[in-house]
Amino acid sequence: MSTAPSGPRHGFVEVADRVFHARFPQWDVGVGLVLGRDGAVVIDTRASGVEGGEVVTAVREQFPHLRIGHVVNTHVHFDHTFGNIAFAGATIHAHDHVARDLESDAERIKGLFAADPGDGPELGYTAADVADVLATRLRGPDRTFATSATIDLGDRVVTLAHRGRGHTDGDIAIEVPDADTVFLGDLIEESAHPSLGSDSWPLEWSETLTSHLGWIGPATVVVPGHGRPVDEAFVRGQRDELRSVGEVLRERRLAGMPLADAQREPDGRLPYPLEHLAAAAACVWAQLDPEAEPAR
Ligand SMILES: [Zn+2]
Repeated sequence: MSTAPSGPRHGFVEVADRVFHARFPQWDVGVGLVLGRDGAVVIDTRASGVEGGEVVTAVREQFPHLRIGHVVNTHVHFDHTFGNIAFAGATIHAHDHVARDLESDAERIKGLFAADPGDGPELGYTAADVADVLATRLRGPDRTFATSATIDLGDRVVTLAHRGRGHTDGDIAIEVPDADTVFLGDLIEESAHPSLGSDSWPLEWSETLTSHLGWIGPATVVVPGHGRPVDEAFVRGQRDELRSVGEVLRERRLAGMPLADAQREPDGRLPYPLEHLAAAAACVWAQLDPEAEPAR
């Protein structure tokens, strides 16, 4: 029960048995917390060392004697990994590609913010938050994996699973089977459209979500990287939207349409505004070459 103005505005809310979720205003990032007999797992660490420290404080205030033994990063992006540095003593888990790409992706994002440090009111951050991002010292994962891993908390097991490329090539699900809860990182978003950036895989994303749906039932609590927890129907709906994006872009690429045209021609099947899909189109143009042999 802190009233410190620098503290997070939202505490951890229990979304399933001993599984908690907190939302923070900057970039509207969500953080997960899974409690077990032998300590806790924190899922994602926010966008800077300072913000990661706020997560540690928030956990301490709500659960004074809890030991955070593990941290999991859902994917490489700064708003999910830069807080890692604040979790001294915890083992950090992530996909192999997070270890491979953390440094280069951090350079990229720091470059973008250094060029344009202005605040982003719609994304909940200020110039001071950006300064914290720029000052952050990276801490990469201690333990990485290609397809699956587990964290044993004594009385429950948390499983980590990579089932294909989507938002990045290193997205994982964090599953708490005994509580029927799945964290999907930015493979889905509730508070905004899914983010199809220059490192996304629009042609494969929906298939990846279909694979994850194999572990999601009607009663499963699904926690997105941004926004409120959702359910199976929501995941199916967003999966279908992403499939439409992939289908339209693939069709256009294979028909030989120039990229610039693909980025501005409307199509009733596209679920998101065209400007939201510009980077996705570029990804598909790079991935699919109709002249290449054999066709992919
Ligand atoms: Zn992301």
